[in-house]
Amino acid sequence: KRRIGVMTSGGDSPGMNGAVRAVVRMAIYNKCEAYAIYEGYDGLVKGGDMIKKMEWEDVRGFLGEGGTLIGTARCMEFMERRGRLRGAKNLVVKGIDALVICGGDGSLTGADKFREEWPGLLKELVETKELTEQDIAPFKHLNIVGLVGSIDNDLSMTDATIGCFSSLARICEAVDSVDTTATSHQRAFVIEVMGRHCGWLALMTGVATGADFIFIPEEPPKEDWEEDMCRIVKKHRAMGKRKTIVIVCEGAQDRNLKKITPNAVKDLLTNRAGLDTRVTTLGHVQRGGTPSAYDRMLATLQGVEAVKAVMEATPETPSPVICVLENKIVRRSLLEAVAQTKEVATAIEAKDFHRAMELRDAEFSE
Ligand code: ADP
Repeated sequence: KRRIGVMTSGGDSPGMNGAVRAVVRMAIYNKCEAYAIYEGYDGLVKGGDMIKKMEWEDVRGFLGEGGTLIGTARCMEFMERRGRLRGAKNLVVKGIDALVICGGDGSLTGADKFREEWPGLLKELVETKELTEQDIAPFKHLNIVGLVGSIDNDLSMTDATIGCFSSLARICEAVDSVDTTATSHQRAFVIEVMGRHCGWLALMTGVATGADFIFIPEEPPKEDWEEDMCRIVKKHRAMGKRKTIVIVCEGAQDRNLKKITPNAVKDLLTNRAGLDTRVTTLGHVQRGGTPSAYDRMLATLQGVEAVKAVMEATPETPSPVICVLENKIVRRSLLEAVAQTKEVATAIEAKDFHRAMELRDAEFSE
C-alpha cells in the first residue's frame, strides 16, 4: 500500500482544491493511502499534525472552493538543506514516499531538488542516528509529481495552468464593469493586471474585452510608444468610441527595462490625449473566488493523472509535471518545463524580446 502526500505551495490559485480532491480520491481508489501536507513546505518541515491522513469524505465540497483549503506558504527553511532534512525525516516517519505538489515554478524546483537529494538526506539521518537503516530501507526513492497551480499561466510546456482561466474570467468581468462607467462618462481607464514575467492575463484580457492598448513584459512597445498609444487611442475616439481601456501587466516595461506604471500611462492619456483618465488596480480580486468550470475540470483530470504517474513511476523516470497540450492531459519533464520557463525570464532580462516571444509563441503554434 503506497502512501501519497499532496500539498499546495507558493501563490494560491482557484482550482487547487479540486486538484487535492482528485489526488486524494484517486489514491484511495487505487488502494493507496493519501496524506495532506498542510501549509505548503512549512508543513513538510514541521511534520506531526501538519501531515494528516485523508479519507474520501475529507475532501467533500472541495471542488467549488477557491484558494486552497489545506493552506499554502512561502517557506524559507525549505530553501536550505537543513529544512529539507527535516522534511525527509517527517515523510519517512509517516511512511510517505510520493509527493504530488501543486504550485508554481518555485515550488516545483524545490520539489525536484528534494527528490535529487533524497538518498543523501536519508543517509545523513542514519549517520546522525535520527533514523535507522531499517527505517529507511523501504524508502529508496522519492517520487515527485508536479501540478501547476498559478493564475499567471506562466509555466512553459502547458497551455493552461490550474487557475488561469478563473482569473481571466474574473478580470474580464471587472473590465466589463469598468466599461459601463467609462462609457457613461467618456473616460479612459488604465487597468493593471497580475503577471510578473508573463503577459498572458493582460494579453487575453485585451483580446477578450477589446482593449485599446496592452502592455506585456515579453514584447515591450516600440521606442515611440507614448505617441503611438495616444495616436491609436485618439483614432478610436474619432471613430465614435466613448471609452478607452488600456491594460497594463504588472511586469510591463519598456525596451530599456524601465517599468511602465499605470500612473505614467494615466498621465500620458490625460496630458497628451486629453482624456479624463482613472487607474484601477485589480489586485487580489484576480486571485480569489470560486474556480471556473474549466479549472475544476482541469484540476480533476490532472489530479487523476498525477496519481497514475506515481503508480507507474520507476526509479529511472524523471519527475513529471502534468500539463495540458491541445486539450490532452500529458506528462512532461518537470525540470525541462521549469528550465524553459526560466529561459523566458532570462531572455526578457537580457532584452532579447525576440527570443522571449519565440518561446511564448512556441506554446501557441507548431
Ligand atoms: P511559486 O511556487 O508560486 O513559484 P515560490 O517561488 O515562492 O512560489 O516558491 C514557493 C516555495 O517553494 C518557497 O517558499 C520555498 O519553500 C520553495 N522553493 C522555491 N524555490 C526553491 C528552491 N530553489 N529550492 C528549494 N525550495 C524552493
